[in-house]
Amino acid sequence: MMPIRATKNAVVAVSYTLLVDDGETGFRWYETVTDTDPFYFLFGHHNILPKLEEALEGKSVGDSFAITIGFENGYGDYDPAKKVIIPKANFKEEGKKNRDLLRIGNVIPMQDDKGNQMRGEVLKVDYMGVHLDFNSPLAGLDLQFEGKIVSIREALPEEVDHGHVHGPDGQHTH
Ligand SMILES: [Zn+2]
Repeated sequence: MMPIRATKNAVVAVSYTLLVDDGETGFRWYETVTDTDPFYFLFGHHNILPKLEEALEGKSVGDSFAITIGFENGYGDYDPAKKVIIPKANFKEEGKKNRDLLRIGNVIPMQDDKGNQMRGEVLKVDYMGVHLDFNSPLAGLDLQFEGKIVSIREALPEEVDHGHVHGPDGQHTH
């Protein structure tokens, strides 16, 4: 028996710590994903950054990884054009203000006129409208991942079909 490895159509779970560097202050902590609540993804289906996937390829459970990924291979440059002001009326529900929705820091899922899904963070609300930032929170940042492989299993046919994981056991369907 060969140990199952991280390769196309495997469901891989990883734990990691992510440090980020804006190019000015050096690397600082951003996020930790623990062994007990790892991140699951379907290998080989563009579900994670290609450079990170490369660093994981061929590894087996218990193996560790460490990789630094420049912003250009991460979430790209910060784009000031992705900061937009949208009229307040667009956020009214049944003609009423929705203060909860427009809390500063809230991330609102939206759709552009071509039907593309995007997420905008509320920066502020003033007389001009709702100021939203559609940049990824990781835009413009160099990334440093350090972690290990927590588990690997073969994907179910349905998961391969959909191109994504259906939860830790493949049971969560959608
Ligand atoms: Zn699905």
